[in-house]
Amino acid sequence: MTVGPFMADDPDLQLRGQLVRRLGLFREMLPGSFVEHKRTCRRPNCHCADRKSLHIQYQISVLIDGKPKTIHIPEALVDELREKIRLHQRFEAAAAGICKINLRRFLKEREKS
Ligand SMILES: [Zn+2]
Repeated sequence: MTVGPFMADDPDLQLRGQLVRRLGLFREMLPGSFVEHKRTCRRPNCHCADRKSLHIQYQISVLIDGKPKTIHIPEALVDELREKIRLHQRFEAAAAGICKINLRRFLKEREKS
């Protein structure tokens, strides 16, 4: 790979640098997807008996050793875990951005030779 004097002006490299520096923000990321289930508890005196103000059950669907698992999440952890899963999605987007830049650069180099 050749590194010329104009590297700092290369918008691809600037963008890649930004993306790489951002990767540290994703250290708390978690895989999986967040699922909300609404349900009744079937107790006749509960507020959910009207079938409108239902209980919400929070779960994470995730692959563990290649097998899909569902993990129940207490309400107190919902915001935190939702955010950590969102971090993973942003990480994937950043990684895809870096790959795209590197592929574009690789193909450009290949044209020259
Ligand atoms: Zn209920």
